[in-house]
Amino acid sequence: MSQLFTKTLREAPKDEVSVNAQLLIRGGFIKKLSAGVYSFLPLGLIVLRKIENIVREEMNNLGGQEILMPVLHPREIWEEAGRWETADYLYKLKDRQGSEFALGATHEEVITDIARKYINSYRDLPLLVYQIQTKFRDELRAKSGLLRGREFSMKDLYSFHEDEEDRKKYYNTVENSYLKILKKCGFKDIIVAEASGGSFSKEYSHEFQIPTIAGEDLIIFCKSCGFAQNKEICDLRQEGVCPNCEKELKEFKTIEVGNIFALGANYSKPMSLSFLDRSGMTKPVIMGCYGMGPSRLMGAAIEVHHDHRGIIWPEEITPFGVVVIQIESKNEAINEKIKKTAEKVYKKLQEKGVAVLYDERENKGAGEKFMEADLIGIPWRVVVSERTVAENKIEIKNRNEKEGALISESKLLKKIL
Ligand code: ATP
Ligand code: MG
Repeated sequence: MSQLFTKTLREAPKDEVSVNAQLLIRGGFIKKLSAGVYSFLPLGLIVLRKIENIVREEMNNLGGQEILMPVLHPREIWEEAGRWETADYLYKLKDRQGSEFALGATHEEVITDIARKYINSYRDLPLLVYQIQTKFRDELRAKSGLLRGREFSMKDLYSFHEDEEDRKKYYNTVENSYLKILKKCGFKDIIVAEASGGSFSKEYSHEFQIPTIAGEDLIIFCKSCGFAQNKEICDLRQEGVCPNCEKELKEFKTIEVGNIFALGANYSKPMSLSFLDRSGMTKPVIMGCYGMGPSRLMGAAIEVHHDHRGIIWPEEITPFGVVVIQIESKNEAINEKIKKTAEKVYKKLQEKGVAVLYDERENKGAGEKFMEADLIGIPWRVVVSERTVAENKIEIKNRNEKEGALISESKLLKKIL
């Protein structure tokens, strides 16, 4: 803790209105540069990388091949699919010679350009390619911290198929792996909602929605049959009544953390991505795209998991599993014993592969250390103090508990492991 260059803040900056930004800034996880643009500091980057790796692992399990596409997109590629003029969220810029570019807001055009170089026949299909990268969007309301960045992290997966049937089959496997990812990130309540945006008039896209009052989306949801739609597009016969089973519909504010789309031939047709099918006919490749935002997931995790004292990280994405706090004593001899014990616990846990934050700072009182630990939100707090060494015990407390318990060193290790 004495090595960490960031410091916690007692108060959130006045201009931050969202809970996630307030707590992340106070805890020293992120630093705002301008609206919707944040630096990730050491603690914040650990969390972001953990989430990205949970996502990456699932994408690899699906058979996705990871690539990294450029951020700088020439105007011409966006003109090919006809989006240069219509995509109002694009940051556009000119170089010294007057050539125009956009900062990557999404990568359908760039991936289609790659795919047309390598896909020729049905033998090259299906193909699943993804990246985890920084996206840029000129968002109008960048006031929700990590939930709505103008620069943010996104995993975007693109799939290429012979026909709609194969695309649909794959679409369902992505749906399952999205649910897995969200559970691994510590979300328990997840609503998969229908939304507009499929490539065909009758087809929906699907949004992965986390219910919380901090959400910017509104979802209608039927508890009895599971019907869920984004309120923006919903097609109800009667307000408040499920069109499926006629039971009562509930409304929830939610955060959209993932989105999956059928693209059909929307990009492959204008960009000439075609293949020779089994009978030797030339056909456009059928595509799907699947987005998920690791930085938005990080913000959403805090909106769902916090209290008045600070963040409560789910174990899967916490920057550290345990914080070991040593509290100084004025008595030299006791102090030595405190340090020795704390150091030993710190080392033993590390040896077992537990990520431990060691608060060994001197001249900081117990109250302040406890407040900071609660704010940062580490799941387990281990305290070594005059009181605990006197009883030859160590104090352990979960972030969700009010009171700690005194236990022996061996029991402590077992409990945490
Ligand atoms: P929204 O409707 O919230 O603006 P979107 O539908 O434009 O999002 P997509 O293009 O579907 O978003 O992006 C895929 C995923 O990327 C989203 O589900 C979300 O997790 C993330 N994402 C999108 N926009 C942002 C943003 N401005 N800041 C952080 N994450 C974002
Ligand atoms: Mg969306």
